[in-house]
Amino acid sequence: MKILLVAPASGPWRGLARRGLFSGRTFRFSMLSLLTVAALSPDGTEVRLVDEQVDDLPGDEHFDLVGITAMTATAPRAYEIARRLRARGIPVVLGGFHPTLNTAEALEHADAVVAGPAYGAWPALVEDFRAGKLQRLYHGSLDARIPRALPRHLMPKGKYLTVNATFATLGCRHTCSFCSITAFHGGARRLRPVEDVAAEAASFRERFFIFVDDNLTQDREYALDLLRALAPLHKRWVTQASLDVADDSELVGALRAAGCVGLFVGLESFNRTALCSQTKGFNDPDRYRAQVARLHRQGLFVEAGVIFGHDSDDVAVFRETLRALDRIGIDAIQVSILTPAPGTPLFERMRGRIVDFDWEHCDYRHALFVPARMTRRELQDGTDWVIRQYYRPWRIARRLGRWLAMPGGLRRFVYPLGLSLAYFGRVKRFGIIGADPARRRSAVPALAAPVRPLGP
Ligand code: SF4
Repeated sequence: MKILLVAPASGPWRGLARRGLFSGRTFRFSMLSLLTVAALSPDGTEVRLVDEQVDDLPGDEHFDLVGITAMTATAPRAYEIARRLRARGIPVVLGGFHPTLNTAEALEHADAVVAGPAYGAWPALVEDFRAGKLQRLYHGSLDARIPRALPRHLMPKGKYLTVNATFATLGCRHTCSFCSITAFHGGARRLRPVEDVAAEAASFRERFFIFVDDNLTQDREYALDLLRALAPLHKRWVTQASLDVADDSELVGALRAAGCVGLFVGLESFNRTALCSQTKGFNDPDRYRAQVARLHRQGLFVEAGVIFGHDSDDVAVFRETLRALDRIGIDAIQVSILTPAPGTPLFERMRGRIVDFDWEHCDYRHALFVPARMTRRELQDGTDWVIRQYYRPWRIARRLGRWLAMPGGLRRFVYPLGLSLAYFGRVKRFGIIGADPARRRSAVPALAAPVRPLGP
């Protein structure tokens, strides 16, 4: 039985890996969802993976069953592929975040939908398919078997930062209103056995790998056990955590001893009102600087997630945020426009204000709604402007000095430097320029002001 698993890509992302310089390799590492589905496929199946950022879909080749994973931004492309394959008589299954949180819509485009994680659901689906009894909807469960090893050899070589992405925890204890994680897992969480995770990390031939966990340290005792098990492996890795991990000196020390070289933390905003409006009041902007400094003292670089478009944001937020990021010593940023993705609490709250329902635009780079205190154009321009300014070569060079001065900096500076250069490449690749809307607004009255006669 031949199975094709597809990660669709839309617009400029399709074929990006083939575009030479700035091809986004640093940001391509996961494919965990499809690798997991491949690992869960029963004996007697032959699986092929296609990531549309890297490869084209196979032309007329026949497959018995096709699985497509979809985020909201890739859902239209997933539906297009499904339509073409189904027209050839090939059954299509949709899964992933968008089909899980928008099941009725996804069912209109597929023979079956897997809601939630593939664990438990995919093996049952394939058995039903073989028996000619395919159901329309399957629910995965975090309680089902998680494969111990993934068939990473299915991923093409040289196209990814690393094929060694893995996870220790699933789900998140927080409920940030813009985030899909908690809704996707139905509020459930799961911790993999420490020995399984350590054995998998030990099996990686390369020294560097990535934990894709949404919040690796959210369960303190588990995290400490895991970090103790990883320390003897002498690996190097990065992951995500909430910034309050910096308040726990034992945990931060254990992160460093276990080989962690950097953390992605969701700062989101420097405005307490904005944070509370997104149910993220556990972030404390007054403590950001000290928390980042504590991580730096342990040799960990900090990449921050920043979101613009909160109702409390006006046109001054872009310049103020840029200054604040420099002040607290953030090493890299991932900037997003507040995005009410369907299925999140934010979507329900903002439904009446959304003016762009094109799912392809639901990519955290488009202003889908009318902001409270600026125009959509200003939100877009200001966001682009911050990205471009942050990755100007002189700013990267200025941060380079700090990285070199950090503990272990001579050995570790390549990680933040590589990431910054990758973001610089993204700015170039996508022609991100933007403009500071506060400056533009202040220029308007000056231009419109009547010309005053010379003299006293
Ligand atoms: S944004 Fe981060 S902390 Fe908040 S719910 Fe999502 S994964 Fe958890």
